Amino acid sequence: MRKKLNEPPYFTPAWEVNDLVCAAVTTRINGFSLNEYANFNLATHVGEDACVVDKNRAEIKSWFDSNLQWQWLDQVHGNNAVRVSRVSKVISADAVVTGQQGLVCCVLTADCLPIFFASKDGSEVGLAHAGWKSLSTGILEATVLKFNAPRDDIQVWIGPGIGRCHFEVGSDVKDAFLQSQSIKDIKALDSCFQRVASAPQKFLCNLESLAKHILNRLGVTEICGGGFCTYCDEERFYSYRRDARCGRMLNMIYMKNR
Ligand SMILES: [Zn+2]
Repeated sequence: MRKKLNEPPYFTPAWEVNDLVCAAVTTRINGFSLNEYANFNLATHVGEDACVVDKNRAEIKSWFDSNLQWQWLDQVHGNNAVRVSRVSKVISADAVVTGQQGLVCCVLTADCLPIFFASKDGSEVGLAHAGWKSLSTGILEATVLKFNAPRDDIQVWIGPGIGRCHFEVGSDVKDAFLQSQSIKDIKALDSCFQRVASAPQKFLCNLESLAKHILNRLGVTEICGGGFCTYCDEERFYSYRRDARCGRMLNMIYMKNR
């Protein structure tokens, strides 16, 4: 077992937000997990020995202010967003928003998009777990509703998820968006689903574009990040599509204690 890591096991988003806001995404490069979970799995629900996950969680915490409170979610690919002002044990939801300094919003991913939110004045932050099911049933709408800030004062950064290059889906996925009308512009919706020439009724799905169209419709237009593919980037990221049995990256955002 390795001792304390020499290098941070995470990277930080390139976005210009209020100085109070801190965000990070872990990578799998350094950590204590072995075999299919190597090296830095932060999830307790994927079959890895809980002692190892605890060690990884202690490791990531050791890189940040020790007074932080960490809010973990039981993510269910649904559309429930919660706003919290103090930490509870584990909340069943796919998005969490807070106005409380020192409270860390945590979302675990391996292909689904982590979508980071921050108000320009640095008084509110949030994080959503957005796969196609959550996107088509309103997780972003629910997240934005938990903010007090006006929509045009909310900034978004899109973290690492599966790219269109590796996200082949059936027509059921497109139908889910058509039915929910989360994207009313049919041309825009069509552009997120590229037909696969060799397989009728199969599409390459662009989750990032879907998220951007939904956010724009909601009036949230300051969006950056994206351009990752968790499947392609095996060195840094877990991918459920690629490996099925694998770990999860931690996505985190909080406001510093003044
Ligand atoms: Zn890819």
